[in-house]
Amino acid sequence: MRFAFIFVLLAMVAPASGIAWATDGPADGYVAEGVYRKTYGDLAIYAIADRLGRLDFSIVKGLSAQEIAKLASPSPELDKTSLTSYVSFFLIKSPAGLFVVDAGLGQADMAKTLEKAGFSGEEATDVLLTHFHGDHVNGLLAGPNPVFPKATVWASVVEDQYWLKDGAGGRGQNAAEKLAPYIKAGRYKTFEPGQEIKPGVKAVELYGHTPGHVGFLFESGDLEFLAWGDVVHAYLLQFARPDVTMTYDVDPQKAKETRAKVLGEAAERGYLVAGAHLPFPSLGQVKKGPAAGQGLSYVWDKELK
Ligand SMILES: [Zn+2]
Repeated sequence: MRFAFIFVLLAMVAPASGIAWATDGPADGYVAEGVYRKTYGDLAIYAIADRLGRLDFSIVKGLSAQEIAKLASPSPELDKTSLTSYVSFFLIKSPAGLFVVDAGLGQADMAKTLEKAGFSGEEATDVLLTHFHGDHVNGLLAGPNPVFPKATVWASVVEDQYWLKDGAGGRGQNAAEKLAPYIKAGRYKTFEPGQEIKPGVKAVELYGHTPGHVGFLFESGDLEFLAWGDVVHAYLLQFARPDVTMTYDVDPQKAKETRAKVLGEAAERGYLVAGAHLPFPSLGQVKKGPAAGQGLSYVWDKELK
């Protein structure tokens, strides 16, 4: 009888899967396949792997295949014509809400992906969009239905103007479709960079990759956490050479100026950085790199303290 009682008690406290659960939720680290969690004070940050693909050399502007190979070598992510390409998005749980930074491509079942992190789409209070490219907005919908039905979706005024307003033509069609149910429900809002969206969450102007591209700076205690969207696409190239641009950049000149500026700032201030196309878990820090002769160079440090 007593043994049976102990067995029942053990069954009650044992984890439901192979994951080690702390009292307040999953422990830091990989909490499921493609879901990485890191907590700092009252912020819990979840990086979600959305897609792994290849970034073809033809997308890189201003470097020959030989120069790319030289910069990226000897990484296993490099082959003769391409580099590994990552798409991630982020959930941030703070006292001010449950924030989703970008929605990814949404190729996988979004409900199941969020469930792996321990959330449902209904719990999200705010979706913060860095810009309107498909790999950042497509996950807003599952079929015709909003994945985050109770959330407010936020974008910069300039991004809204460029893709959705008069003169945008067909270029904004995809974003308009993905935002439509949120706009209809009165759950779409725009902001000016510099604006505090919620307590401890501020939009930061990072124009260039797209005209209204922004990042989101979360502050909690001593921590400054910047989710910077697409400041860097090819980390093996663009930390060492911030002047290298991609064919996707709407304004390449502005994109490289923004990258040089924010890399310097991130290294100086010790930001924790999240980037949609950084190697999974797409979280880390920017460090100053060796002088390269073409301006300042940086390195990506994905070791998390
Ligand atoms: Zn992107």
